[in-house]
Amino acid sequence: ERIAQQDQQVRAYLGVCPERALAQARKIDRQVAAGEPLGPLAGVPTAVKDVILTRGLRTTCASRILENYVAPYDATAVERLEAAGAVVLGKTNCDEFAMGSSTENSGFFPTCNPHDLSRVPGGSSGGSAAAVAANLATVSLGSDTGGSIRQPAALCGVVGIMGTYGRVSRFGLVAFASSLDHIGPFGRTVRDVARVLRAIAGRDPKDSTSAAVPVADYEATLDQSLRGVKVGVPSEYFAGLSAEIGDNVQKGIDLLAKLGCSIVPISLPHTDYAIACYYIICTAEASSNLARYDGVRYGFRSPEPELHDMYRKTRDQGFGAEVKRRIMLGTHVLSSGYYDAYYLKAQKVRTLIARDFLEAFEAVDVIVTPTSPIPAFKLGERVDDPLQMYLADIYTVTASLAGIPGISVPCGRTKGEPRLPVGMQMLAKHFREARLLQVAHGFEKAGGFAIA
Ligand code: GLN
Repeated sequence: ERIAQQDQQVRAYLGVCPERALAQARKIDRQVAAGEPLGPLAGVPTAVKDVILTRGLRTTCASRILENYVAPYDATAVERLEAAGAVVLGKTNCDEFAMGSSTENSGFFPTCNPHDLSRVPGGSSGGSAAAVAANLATVSLGSDTGGSIRQPAALCGVVGIMGTYGRVSRFGLVAFASSLDHIGPFGRTVRDVARVLRAIAGRDPKDSTSAAVPVADYEATLDQSLRGVKVGVPSEYFAGLSAEIGDNVQKGIDLLAKLGCSIVPISLPHTDYAIACYYIICTAEASSNLARYDGVRYGFRSPEPELHDMYRKTRDQGFGAEVKRRIMLGTHVLSSGYYDAYYLKAQKVRTLIARDFLEAFEAVDVIVTPTSPIPAFKLGERVDDPLQMYLADIYTVTASLAGIPGISVPCGRTKGEPRLPVGMQMLAKHFREARLLQVAHGFEKAGGFAIA
């Protein structure tokens, strides 16, 4: 009912699934009545980004090309959520194929930021962040390739975590850039995302890149003291930042110091190359992954009698402008004569960026940065300027390229009206999610920033 009333303004959902939700709720009710043990997410209302497959439900990737595509199976993350008792309410809006930073690239409609309906919720998982911020779900799943969980979490004032690459199975996540794609949760508190992450993480034989590293009980260590934790602050992430973001993040760092963390200035020298590197690698992978939408195997098909016309028209009519831009860019950087200059070079730079982090983590436990250089911007403000849109990812793409885990937690609000949420990003070494969640939780508890 709440979705029916309030989502007319926010537009976080592309579709809801009341039958599936009520069936699961009845199952949980029966377990309660029978006194059976309940799963860790029993009865928790959950939204799922529409790039994640849900059996029997439409899974569109917010693209016209998949407008009528019904998934034949559940993603492993969804299967695990439901096994833990979660109640899936529906599928959330996003940028088409998760390409974007504002949810304005959705092939259907943009989602609005619940804190100010004239502004974007961030992206690409804007619907999943907005659903949680507007209390239209308790938790949600998003996907993060270059910041699509952390950045919308920051802009909507909620918590979002991307685990280590391989921490959560990608089986059933529609591929955008396979070496960068992750599934991860949004919630109103660090504890909520810790619980969801634990439920969905772990080795999955259906995804050969999922890691066989044991999953810790993240909630068990949340309340450990922050005394002595070494927090790195990279100088490269504080230049060219809006003053209000900088002030809030600085206050956040001061709070961590007050909690007993030692603050260590560090340098991540290859940060400047991250956006260029990311947009070469992700478009290269996207151009390959999206070749499968040919009008034959999936979704939309343009009714042309001649085969090549059919391919061309299907893709021309089915894909939006940003998706086409990336397919062209990705094809270009992979083409003979350009491969060495662009794609191969970007792969080398990726290694240097990862090495920056590994060296930094010799000296510190976590790294703290702003999540986004700016707070939620106005709908329409950046949508015609792809480069401006790409720059919104400046602080998030580095962790994606390095494969390390990252979380965004609320760390205050801007001064003007409306007071917009500001997010702080924390990063840790591969598979140190427990440490990340512990620091984020200690920070949240001391600052009281979370929207209750
Ligand atoms: N905004 C970035 C992009 O457009 C990241 C998207 C994502 O993480 N899925 O590629």
